[in-house]
Amino acid sequence: MKIGEAASRLGVAVHVLRHWDDEGVVVPDRTPSGHREYTEEHFHRLRVLRACQGVGMSLPEIRQVLHRDEPERVGVIERRLHLIRTQRARLEAAERFLVHVVDCEHDLLTRCERCGQYAT
Ligand SMILES: [Zn+2]
Repeated sequence: MKIGEAASRLGVAVHVLRHWDDEGVVVPDRTPSGHREYTEEHFHRLRVLRACQGVGMSLPEIRQVLHRDEPERVGVIERRLHLIRTQRARLEAAERFLVHVVDCEHDLLTRCERCGQYAT
């Protein structure tokens, strides 16, 4: 499919696909006249690229993740996993704090032992 169709199916602008091509993340075939040609396999890679962006990966990281034989591939994924788990732990602590605060019986939160325990 042509770049315009791939872009519209993916829901991004054409220049985004050109950028991903220039960065070597998803490199389509070229027609004899030089136009980009995306196969279903390319399109699938584009969707995986979007999923990787959705978990906060940069293009250089995604390029490594998409290539199975990249030596840094597992490291990139594990660093992202670690980051997400750290964020989740922080969010869960924030949630516990707020759930407590809404029911905290102290007149002043500064006098509550438990309120102070949530400080990082
Ligand atoms: Zn409290």
